[in-house]
Amino acid sequence: MIVYSHEDCLKKFNGHGHPERKERLESIINSIKSTPELNINFKDSPIAEMSNISLVHPQNHIEELFSNIPSEGLQGVEKEPYADTMLCPDSKNAILRSCGAGIAAADDLMNKNERVFCAVRPPGHHAETIRANGFCFINNIAVAARYLQQKYKINKVAIIDFDVHHGNGTQEIFYKDPSVVYASSHEFPLFPGTGAEDEKGVGNIFNATLKAGTKGKEFIKIFENKILKPVDKFKPEIILISAGFDAHINDPLANINLESKDFFEITKMIVEIANIHSKGRIISFLEGGYDLNALSESIREHLTALKPHI
Ligand SMILES: [Zn+2]
Repeated sequence: MIVYSHEDCLKKFNGHGHPERKERLESIINSIKSTPELNINFKDSPIAEMSNISLVHPQNHIEELFSNIPSEGLQGVEKEPYADTMLCPDSKNAILRSCGAGIAAADDLMNKNERVFCAVRPPGHHAETIRANGFCFINNIAVAARYLQQKYKINKVAIIDFDVHHGNGTQEIFYKDPSVVYASSHEFPLFPGTGAEDEKGVGNIFNATLKAGTKGKEFIKIFENKILKPVDKFKPEIILISAGFDAHINDPLANINLESKDFFEITKMIVEIANIHSKGRIISFLEGGYDLNALSESIREHLTALKPHI
């Protein structure tokens, strides 16, 4: 299995005390490196090209975003109450390499038949077509989905999002597109406020809302019924995962009570569907997850379940 990452992703700084910090990625990389049985081939994420980014985001929107990058200090890109999506002087390459990881992952998946995990930050699933939001600037998973469709003529892509927050960006981007199924489990109500179960797109959006306090057993039942069943029915040619680990019981930003081992079960269920319909093809993208120890443990569970060869 391949893991894409880059040291530029460590340089993005969101301010002292901000939960989306470089230690998250360091914790994940250290955990992977200390688990040799995962047999990971680490690769450097390339810089994403505008021709690929613009499959999702208009070029002028991205250029305007980058024009706000400060030469020192921090620059917020959102209005109150979401003033915590920040640009720092080193943001540009972190953002471009996070997106580039997914594009390179798509090439590896299609050409080498290898599963890939993108260990990158900033995350992407809150980024809408023309709006940076929730620590996200470019929607990394959406660009990868469009790239797979355009370059490899993949007709049906499923995006499964088990981050504890709803991926408002991914939903917005594909809301009227029956070629992409977006299925998300998330605490509700919680930031960003979208993701009610009656938001159904053109029959391609599946939202499973979770009450605060939901534990692993109940989560898995809901996940099977409201996420995996519709994905199974869709028969995707590829499955992309928005892998956030903030539904962990120790996460400081949410109130769902998964334990690290639950991420093994959840991932294994996704792998089973991919093996039936998608030739085993999966790319997973790091989204949220803000407790360092929970990240370290959960990533090991996630990758252990993803590991079996396609
Ligand atoms: Zn999240």
